[in-house]
Formats: sequence, C-alpha cells, structure tokens
Amino acid sequence: MAPMKLEIITAERVVYSDEVDVVVAPGVEGELGILPHHAPLMTVLLPGEITIRKGGEQTYLAVSGGFLEMMANTVTILADAAERSDEIDEVRVQEAMKRAQERVAMRSSDMDLERAVNSIRRSQARLKVVQRRRSRPSPPPGQTQP
Ligand code: ATP
Repeated sequence: MAPMKLEIITAERVVYSDEVDVVVAPGVEGELGILPHHAPLMTVLLPGEITIRKGGEQTYLAVSGGFLEMMANTVTILADAAERSDEIDEVRVQEAMKRAQERVAMRSSDMDLERAVNSIRRSQARLKVVQRRRSRPSPPPGQTQP
C-alpha cells in the first residue's frame, strides 16, 4: 500500500516527518490505528506511546498529549511534548515520576492533583518507550545500534 505522510510537531520542533505505513496513537477513545487513506478525522491524544511502522521497521515515541488530525493522506500530530525512544533521559523521567508521586502522597491542600497525575502519566508513557529501547535485540557483533 502506498504510504502516508506523518508529521509530529511540538511548539519547539519537528519531532518526526516521514512517509510511513501505519501509525498507532493513544486517542482519548482508545488506541487508534491509522492506515494510508484513512477517512478524515481529528482527535485528542492522551499521554502514551506512538508506534510508527515503516517498511517493516517499528519506531516508538512518547507523547504527552495533544491533537491528531488525519486529512488528505497526512497524519499531523500537534503534541504538547514528544520524544523518540533514544531521546528520553531515563534518570530525568524517574526523578519527575518520584516528584509527582511525592506530591500526591503529601496531599497538601495547595497540591494540584490533576497536574501531579498528568505528570505521572507523562512519566509512565516515557518509561514505556524506554522499555522498548531496552527490549530491542542486540545488533550483531561489529554493528552499532542506530
Ligand atoms: P520534567 O519535570 O523532567 O521537566 P515533565 O514531564 O514536566 O518532566 P514536560 O513538561 O512534559 O516535562 O516536557 C518539557 C520538555 O522536556 C519537552 O520538550 C520534553 O520533550 C522534554 N522532556 C521531558 N522529560 C524528558 C526526558 N525524560 N527526556 C528527554 N526529554 C524530556
């Protein structure tokens, strides 16, 4: 099947731009799989994982939420934040998760629960994508992992 265009953009940068075969994204109404020439659609994204398939290869990104639009065989994702698996700093995620969990545990009256829970969800999404990096098979001897 002829591919479709995928653009993942944040306010700061273009995170991903390429022709792809399949996009799976965390829509508010559940996991959303999009193939080329999918009917036009627009949806809100939750924090989670984006899976991209292109020529037999899978790429994983963490997304913090945003919008997805499918139109004219182009998927555009406007993300609050998005990182490819190799861009995620694992120590930073663990620290962000710990801070948010501590805020929730303290239950102080000035704590913004929704903000803390969202931070935990962003961290969970990043950790899931970091796991993917770890579970990739090792390259044959003499070759480095891209
Ligand atoms: P932190 O408290 O560590 O900033 P956060 O969840 O509040 O975490 P965001 O507000 O979602 O961070 O993101 C701010 C910017 O930092 C975005 O550009 C995002 O891509 C980047 N970012 C956040 N966490 C990480 C991480 N663990 N590794 C790489 N980039 C990250």
